[in-house]
Amino acid sequence: MKAWIITIGDELLIGQTVDTNSAFIGAELSKAGFDIERKISIHDRRDDILQTFRGINPDVQLLICTGGLGPTSDDITKQTLCEVFDTRLVPDREVLTRVEEMMSRRGFPMNENNRLQAMVPENCRVIPNEMGTAPGMLFEKDAAMFIFMPGVPFEMKHMMTEHVIPILKERFNTQSIIHKNIMTYGAPEALLAEMLSAFESALPEELSLAYLPSSGVIKLRLTASGKDRGMLEKIIGEQVAKLYQKIPDLIYGEDEKPLEKVVGELLAERKQTLSTAESCTGGKIAQMLTSVVGSSAYFMGSVVAYDNSVKRKLLGVPGELLDKHGAVSEEVVTAMAEGVRRVTGTDYSVATSGIAGPDGGSPSKPVGTVWIAVSSDKGTVTEKYVYGSDRHQNILRSSNAALNLLRLQIIRK
Ligand code: AMP
Ligand code: MG
Repeated sequence: MKAWIITIGDELLIGQTVDTNSAFIGAELSKAGFDIERKISIHDRRDDILQTFRGINPDVQLLICTGGLGPTSDDITKQTLCEVFDTRLVPDREVLTRVEEMMSRRGFPMNENNRLQAMVPENCRVIPNEMGTAPGMLFEKDAAMFIFMPGVPFEMKHMMTEHVIPILKERFNTQSIIHKNIMTYGAPEALLAEMLSAFESALPEELSLAYLPSSGVIKLRLTASGKDRGMLEKIIGEQVAKLYQKIPDLIYGEDEKPLEKVVGELLAERKQTLSTAESCTGGKIAQMLTSVVGSSAYFMGSVVAYDNSVKRKLLGVPGELLDKHGAVSEEVVTAMAEGVRRVTGTDYSVATSGIAGPDGGSPSKPVGTVWIAVSSDKGTVTEKYVYGSDRHQNILRSSNAALNLLRLQIIRK
């Protein structure tokens, strides 16, 4: 079943608003078994809207559109739809009552624009908007279903999951598509693909495997499609078990779980604590850790020791080490990790020191060189990485590398 996604709004074309709606809708439709053939973003212009709707391939069965349903004069989708579906706007009692209630709850009087919101094309089915004032609309024409939702992302998401998906499941006898994500760290994409080449070629035909790398983490996405959902779940489960046998050391979690969450769970289970001493990552690791709900149970704090004076004064890194080896060295990162653990009294500590770039490198220490240390009563372990020249990526990659080294130390016997 082919579907197109059309997002309407000038702001999407000039890069003022990132089109997150189509990503969300794409994911939801894919889960519901649709094949998303195309996504299009267009201006709030009558001609563009008409032209787009005239150019829809005849074998497309579902069109989902967002945007342009607001109460202001720039939102012209509704009027234009009357031309597409050969109808006119009429007031809808239920929508009008909802808009009146919403306005009075917020203490605003109704105006002409609000009354306009309650006008809907005569031959559409109204999809309720529990989160806002602009109603959704559904049309059927030729063999296709057309669904229009407001552009405001949280209104659209609610409408999509609560109303649209159930309608689609009932109307189209959809294929099931199941995704399962296995999170890995430690082998670059090419190496991982080599390690898994036999696994991949032996996959049952209902399954496919995708590699989705992001700053050192590689998500392995298994996708199964077919009619029998129970069967697909069984097949995917068997393949996941095989993956655990093939690459046990590389898998750190499932679904979208980030490393900071896995580390947090390990620490919480063990009732152990953590601190960080961050130079090149500038507090990124602390920020990642504290973005996890409940992190106050195990994360004590961080010293962003950017300048050598802070490494010396707050972490007690000896000046001779800094002079002799430089800040980006195994010796200094070790002293940073041990120093912050001493000061905070935590069970574990993590430290980073590197050259994030794009400049500041030398032949012996090129841009992207990063030292990482993890200290605990099991000892202090270090790792060196040499990344590229992109500052942002270097920070993200170092942070993930540090969290993974920490994870391995926590689970080490
Ligand atoms: P509209 O329904 O066109 O009045 O859109 C209302 C607001 O929703 C806009 O101001 C945008 O901030 C946001 N919006 C519209 N379309 C999208 C989209 N495709 N992705 C993300 N945000 C959007
Ligand atoms: Mg708009």
